[in-house]
Amino acid sequence: MHEKCGVVGVSLEDRDAARPLYYSLYALQHRGQESAGIVTHDGFQQHSHVEMGLVGDAFQQGDLEDLNGSHGIGHVRYPTAGGVNASCAQPFSVSFKSGSLGLSHNGNLVNADEVGDQLAELGHAFTSDGDTEVIAHDLARNLLEEDLVRAVKRTMSRIHGSYSLTIMHDDTVLGVRDPEGNRPLCIGELEDGYVLASESAAIDTLDGELIRDVRPGELVVLHADGTGYDTYQLVQPENTAHCFFEHVYFARPDSVIDDELVYEVRRDLGRALWDESGIDSDVVMPVPDSGRAFASGYAEAANEDDDADGVEFAEGLMKNRYVGRTFIMPTQDERERAVRLKLNPIKSTVEDKTVTLIDDSIVRGTTSNQLVQLLYDAGAEEVHVRIGAPPIVAPCYMGIDMASREELIAADQSVADIRDEIGADSLAYLSIDAVAGALSKSKADLCLGCVTGEYPYDIDGEAKDREVDRPAIGTTASADD
Ligand code: 5GP
Ligand code: MG
Repeated sequence: MHEKCGVVGVSLEDRDAARPLYYSLYALQHRGQESAGIVTHDGFQQHSHVEMGLVGDAFQQGDLEDLNGSHGIGHVRYPTAGGVNASCAQPFSVSFKSGSLGLSHNGNLVNADEVGDQLAELGHAFTSDGDTEVIAHDLARNLLEEDLVRAVKRTMSRIHGSYSLTIMHDDTVLGVRDPEGNRPLCIGELEDGYVLASESAAIDTLDGELIRDVRPGELVVLHADGTGYDTYQLVQPENTAHCFFEHVYFARPDSVIDDELVYEVRRDLGRALWDESGIDSDVVMPVPDSGRAFASGYAEAANEDDDADGVEFAEGLMKNRYVGRTFIMPTQDERERAVRLKLNPIKSTVEDKTVTLIDDSIVRGTTSNQLVQLLYDAGAEEVHVRIGAPPIVAPCYMGIDMASREELIAADQSVADIRDEIGADSLAYLSIDAVAGALSKSKADLCLGCVTGEYPYDIDGEAKDREVDRPAIGTTASADD
């Protein structure tokens, strides 16, 4: 199961947490549109509301009023091509002998089956096939024997893979980020409390202040009175495995990840694209909205280049904002129709011009294929395609539902073949080195599985890009900050 989701957790001094959680979920809606949910705790008991659909549809006025308590967590879930599954909607909530637990998970475990089987043998009964429930049961079991921090640490030593979690144990809200830091998670301060969220844009929405990213391998425990938090570096990773695709496509451009504004990273990727494969043309235009920052960086670099003719940066494609997601549609025919529904050329910026079309990524090739044709039909003389990421040659197992190998246009074709297939005059992708450069990271600290076919995790039938000695488990839990 591939879960690319949004998580949030809030602990406030006095005020009910439901409304801030609800607004944060709106801010994280791009991370998941299949279901939305909130679980709160009022000091005595949990309150939960989880529904299929967009945040605005999943909650009605009365629903928020029933969610009492100044502590809570929330979740938006990404739809997967495998089908809609209400039993996997989150937050997952459950009561054990050791107290009540709520969990919101972004990521994907690689050993959930193994841990789940062991727990089932010990008598744990599961209601879903989701890995989040496995984490919940393991944690509940550990909580019978240990304090909260040690229990989380023990669970972290058993589960492998990608997980950014917000957890509520009774009225204590915590955030946990896996040792590889695969998915983002950050912490922010509000006037009357603290917030944990997948992306800083959610903190902005609450008029809060981003404090910093939760570190890979770190546990953050928000004080139940809303006045502070403790942090524990439970696992000390040797290398991280940040998902570069968060910066390229997934995160909001107005979010800050690893101290860098995503928008600026995308502009830098666009600049690098000009440096590596710039080509003179009359106009540079983005595929809206995902190509916009790349195209602006690319055009800026082109216009600063003394050896180039200079280009016009123009909007050449109008997006119909009322058409929803096209990427997830089940058949190729529907996906093609949907691209046409969604985008229409602006003739004056295209006709009789040489055009460079810029997008963040090519997955199946549907978008580029359709758009190149559309631009020719609108009178373009030449269409050059530039892509702000390397060719996607392999699937993602860590939370981005990218389609299977057979569907990936670059899985077994050269760039020249792909150029032929989409019918462009030229096609170039960005190099992996340029991606690492723009992210100011060593390749050893990135998960590059989808562009190299080698993964930082043990995945059945796939190659590994590193010796993963499981990161050392720290022996002491210490509070800092
Ligand atoms: P393609 O049409 O080649 O299959 O997909 C490429 C387009 O889909 C690009 O415009 C890119 O912005 C977008 N895209 C890439 N990855 C994802 C994803 O995981 N989900 C969704 N919804 N869109 C994606
Ligand atoms: Mg796009």
